[in-house]
Amino acid sequence: MIKFWNKRVKHGILTENEQLDRELSKIKKEIKNGVKKRFAGSLAIRMVDSGSCNACEAECNALANPYYDLERLGIYFVASPRHADVLLLSGIMTFNMTPHVKEAYAQIPAPKWVISLGDCPVMQAPFDKTYAINAPAENHLPVTHHIAGCPPSPLEIMEGLLEFLKKI
Ligand code: SF4
Repeated sequence: MIKFWNKRVKHGILTENEQLDRELSKIKKEIKNGVKKRFAGSLAIRMVDSGSCNACEAECNALANPYYDLERLGIYFVASPRHADVLLLSGIMTFNMTPHVKEAYAQIPAPKWVISLGDCPVMQAPFDKTYAINAPAENHLPVTHHIAGCPPSPLEIMEGLLEFLKKI
């Protein structure tokens, strides 16, 4: 036990990143204010995967955990485009998914926006142009904002959402 406490005193707490905590709490405050100002406190996002490797979705899943806790800031992922304000598009646009993505966009009531997530929708991902690929996404949808990264981290996604809130 003494050995354990000596080690703890010597190395401090290694599982917490104070700089990230500070950055995150600043971004959270700004996002909450932005959502309140632009969307009356509630922004609904419908995420559509147009051909991704699933890493972008995994990073988005992390936004729901108690650390990032996006729902507390008023941003919700919804199951139906009819309940959404924003279409969040991940993955490289494939021919098979193109009509479904367009249909999802058409179902969102106006005013509506499209955010592309990750390097895939802008054709900068590791995938190359093949017979199955119909990218970039902006050829098919009016993309308002792009969040770069392969995959972008949860913090980068939050920064991107904040930029979007400032842009519109
Ligand atoms: S941007 Fe990268 S991580 Fe995201 S879906 Fe494309 S290949 Fe996967």
